[in-house]
Amino acid sequence: MHNRRERIEEMLDRLERAEAYLEAGRVHRVEGLPQTYVVEGTALYLVNTGDGECTCPDAEKGHACKHLLASILLERSEQKVPKPLRMAV
Ligand SMILES: [Zn+2]
Repeated sequence: MHNRRERIEEMLDRLERAEAYLEAGRVHRVEGLPQTYVVEGTALYLVNTGDGECTCPDAEKGHACKHLLASILLERSEQKVPKPLRMAV
């Protein structure tokens, strides 16, 4: 069993990798499917932020994987950005 410090380190490692994925443009929203993302990792992984699922091996082991973290980060950033005004042409 890991101690608290080790668990926090693991969590932050995943978060840092998730941020790197996001910055590298490896997280993609799926048009027409809310809360669904495709993340380019070792393979392509499908993420559902609604139920916190990802198709990668890390998530299968029950971890909050970097793909899920990266997708939630993207989702949150999209919610924070005000929608641009639509100009009539
Ligand atoms: Zn994953």
